[in-house]
Amino acid sequence: MQFKDIKGQTITANHLTEIIDSGRVSHAQMFLGDTASGSLALAIAYAQYLNCQNRQHYDKKDGGLRADSCGECPSCKKFQQLSFSDLHFFFPNAATPSVTKNYSSTDFRNEFREFLNNNHQQGTLDSWYEFLGIENKQGMIRERDADELVHIMSLKSYEGSYKIVIIWMAEKMNDTMANKILKSLEEPYPNTLLLLVTENRDKMLSTIISRTQLVRVPDITSMPSSDNPDFANLYVIWMRQLFKLNMQSLSEWVDSMHAKGREQQKMFILYAQEATRECMLRNLAGLPLKLDFGDAKFNTSFPTMITENNIEKLNDAFNDAFYAIERNAYAKITFMELSFRISKALKKR
Ligand SMILES: [Zn+2]
Repeated sequence: MQFKDIKGQTITANHLTEIIDSGRVSHAQMFLGDTASGSLALAIAYAQYLNCQNRQHYDKKDGGLRADSCGECPSCKKFQQLSFSDLHFFFPNAATPSVTKNYSSTDFRNEFREFLNNNHQQGTLDSWYEFLGIENKQGMIRERDADELVHIMSLKSYEGSYKIVIIWMAEKMNDTMANKILKSLEEPYPNTLLLLVTENRDKMLSTIISRTQLVRVPDITSMPSSDNPDFANLYVIWMRQLFKLNMQSLSEWVDSMHAKGREQQKMFILYAQEATRECMLRNLAGLPLKLDFGDAKFNTSFPTMITENNIEKLNDAFNDAFYAIERNAYAKITFMELSFRISKALKKR
């Protein structure tokens, strides 16, 4: 899977290739997002890019894809067919008419590969169950899967490069499985990557969440519109207040956010995160701003505030606020905390 074939996820793809190009690959990552938004395809494309022998970089000034795997080297060719020997999948499974006991992901790996290849290396849980013929059963990822996973992690890689273990629908791991993989997260194997693909972070053990690097896959059906003038205006006002830290007007701004509905609050946080990323690209890579803040002075001056020294802190702050709102936290406190974190990060550029 190449990033260019995944619709609507250019920003996420650029973020992922950047992680690899800058050598900041974490041994465990969690791809969080709706399956229909391409989270699994992104995880596979990420693994393919990591193992590609001829990574491509594009001099895109229009905010498009900045890098991708070549799609033609021996490693890429195997990835396109999902036949790369060091790519392993774990996924929800259950008894089928032909495999009635002691089943695990390994028993269905050919079916899973076929399922993915039929569906552009994506797919939903329902369509997988239907494909496997287990519509009425609850698929799980169980202890047997865990034992196989631990065994695979301990083996040397066949291809001599990165070994990739993808757990699709990781929220379907039962407690035994989850506790067994915790150990792998605590004592990572060299050149081995564990990629958890999940739709629901709340169903995962917090000890697993805290040991994985989060990759949030935006819901492409509700992506914040870059030309939403209200969001742009809100962002400009907010950032100016944070720079000066005018408490009176900041608290009025927070009140206005508090009054909005939860979906709007989440959409705005996504917008602000995307806008901040855009500013960093403008500042560090000289890319033109895709977003127009509707304020020429802000368009030129603000991007210089976002640098490699504060972008990660800003990203973390936005992620935390997004999940707080999603878990029904009190919006006023969430936006106030977010404001202080951003203000602090902006001073450490
Ligand atoms: Zn390649």
